Amino acid sequence: MFKYFGIIFAAALLFGAGCATPSNDGNGSFPPDWSANQVTTNLPIYQPIPTVLPAVKTNPPPVAIRTNPPVVVKPVKRPPILTWTSLNRWAAENKFAAPRRAANGPTVNYSITSPRGTMILTIGSREAIWRGLELHLGFAPEIIDDQVFIHGLDLRKNLEPLLLDEPLTFSSTNRIIVIDPGHGGVAGGTISTLDKRPEKEFTLDWARRLKPLLEANGWRVFLTRTYDTDVSLSNRVAFAASHRADVFISLHFNSSAPDHKQSGLETYCLTPVGMPSTLTRGNPDYYSQIFPNNYYDELNIQLAAKLHGALLQANGEEDRGIRRARFMGVLHGHRCPAVLIEGGFLSNAREAEKIETGAFRQRLAEALANALK
Ligand SMILES: [Zn+2]
Repeated sequence: MFKYFGIIFAAALLFGAGCATPSNDGNGSFPPDWSANQVTTNLPIYQPIPTVLPAVKTNPPPVAIRTNPPVVVKPVKRPPILTWTSLNRWAAENKFAAPRRAANGPTVNYSITSPRGTMILTIGSREAIWRGLELHLGFAPEIIDDQVFIHGLDLRKNLEPLLLDEPLTFSSTNRIIVIDPGHGGVAGGTISTLDKRPEKEFTLDWARRLKPLLEANGWRVFLTRTYDTDVSLSNRVAFAASHRADVFISLHFNSSAPDHKQSGLETYCLTPVGMPSTLTRGNPDYYSQIFPNNYYDELNIQLAAKLHGALLQANGEEDRGIRRARFMGVLHGHRCPAVLIEGGFLSNAREAEKIETGAFRQRLAEALANALK
């Protein structure tokens, strides 16, 4: 198995933290994009952040990962995972109404409702809807003997955390969050189809807008980079560990170039062991791989759903779903819930135009901060 780690690690380095990553246009020096002339007057103007942070000044040296106490994990005793489970039986065991067949349409849909919300499952499709949000399952539900059957891993890692478990909460004091502005320095990320400005500018600005908003909500906030510098993915993970982060959020913008049509929001968390990923970007997707962050599978999906819902309203574009990926090296090693957000497509001219405005990035920052109140 260890040989796979090498492959995955190399692939993660190659592909960056999540975005399609065309090479930098070679310019390499771009003006900061949080200048006031891009901020509409009815929105808070970005305040420069004082440089007193104990955050990285240069690439941080690798830090020994200390064991971060799992402050928000509430272990729940559950029976072993069965490969396929009758959703009718599961609903009865948990005292929910049986799944209900939705009105006839081009697809066969069933809904199941708990006090926490409604999940809509489509037979033969991995795309489900949770409280109106697109959620990508590991396996397509099936009908067997007139009952909905769902894969045990989806039940355990998707349905139960959302429909059954206590919602995600954080301690009211001394909450620590690490915000990771994607890319930086020579690693520009993808580029805007409008003017080739690099993703790294927009992710840093998003993070810098987010920081004071989170601090106002009582979070201690650390940024993996506070200026235009390249930080390795493993150092971003080590940085979160050394700061004993309770939450890690990596910020990115997306690209589907040369396809310029795709737009919208994607939120990623690590794929649970045994489950196929939603996205592989051509990387191997070894289902048996176990990463430290898999300990937080249930909290990851709760965090992803919470943030995705808030961001979708701010983004105002297509819901491309809460997704799973195994190749994103920036998610593997965290000892806390961790997600990666693709806040929009820089390869789509209409969406890039929005992303290039400070007002839009402010909206994304405010949405995240409100979701983490
Ligand atoms: Zn990116």
